[in-house]
Amino acid sequence: MDITFLGTGGAWGVPELNCDCFICREMRRKGEKRERTSLLLSNKTRLLIDCGPDAKSQLSRQQVDTIDGVLITHEHTDHYIGLDELFAYKRNGPRGSFSPIPVYLTHGSHEVIRKRFDYLEDMEVIKACHIAPNRRFTAGEFEVLPFDTYHGAFAGGSVGFLVRFKDVSGTDIRIVYTSDFSELPDPPSEIFNPDYLIIQSFWLNEPINNRPNHMSFQRAIHFIKLLNPKKETFLVHIGDADMVSDDPANSMLKKYKPRDPLRPPAGGEPYPIPLNQAQWQETVDRIAFDRGLPYRITVAYDDLRIKV
Ligand SMILES: [Zn+2]
Ligand SMILES: [Zn+2]
Repeated sequence: MDITFLGTGGAWGVPELNCDCFICREMRRKGEKRERTSLLLSNKTRLLIDCGPDAKSQLSRQQVDTIDGVLITHEHTDHYIGLDELFAYKRNGPRGSFSPIPVYLTHGSHEVIRKRFDYLEDMEVIKACHIAPNRRFTAGEFEVLPFDTYHGAFAGGSVGFLVRFKDVSGTDIRIVYTSDFSELPDPPSEIFNPDYLIIQSFWLNEPINNRPNHMSFQRAIHFIKLLNPKKETFLVHIGDADMVSDDPANSMLKKYKPRDPLRPPAGGEPYPIPLNQAQWQETVDRIAFDRGLPYRITVAYDDLRIKV
């Protein structure tokens, strides 16, 4: 089974349009980018988790020729606005061969998404399948358990997913996927001690005002410890909203002051804000080492593919 990180960026991707902050500048200089966060699980069944504005380029790059289902975490544009791109899977197959792609989403998310995409249901490109926290369902060989994630009042339908399947040797593998969130109000016991955890790190440091309820790496450390993944943790939905020392762009609306930034346990200056992929991984490794965290934490990047 392959897990492909189709995109690993925040709501507007990075580098962001019209942004000349130190992070975006450095990423342009290095030719790096993070498209909107989306994940592909592929084995006999191919499941997409979220379908944002970069879906067309992501699915073409990976040459995805069939999709058996889409899991939607919540009703924010960066997680669903690419659903219209799925029309290509109906248009470009032999006449009469296509069945609507099941899109699994909560009632709360569907209320918002159907206002825009009811025609995709009417034209049988997609088929909405209602899901609810703590009610498991199967999608091909995958067993999925949605669980409640708190992402503020403007994302009432927000969920994370526990995805379970058997590997070639018949061993049960569990992947926990959390999207944008700040709290896990009622975590079911099955999501603890997964093999893999995928978690948002929108900022490195928790900002003074966490609006609208996103996860920083600083706070994610608590959830990594709580959920205690056995094999590997991946960080996604990474943005550029940390303030970087001496950056004139710190005056931008999106730049938030840290509340109490991560610093070495012995004290001293906070860890510098990472500007590119290599610095992100180095910083995360250093923080994990300094705190004696027994976890393998990988800063995911676009098109990273791992075999599980
Ligand atoms: Zn998002
Ligand atoms: Zn969101």
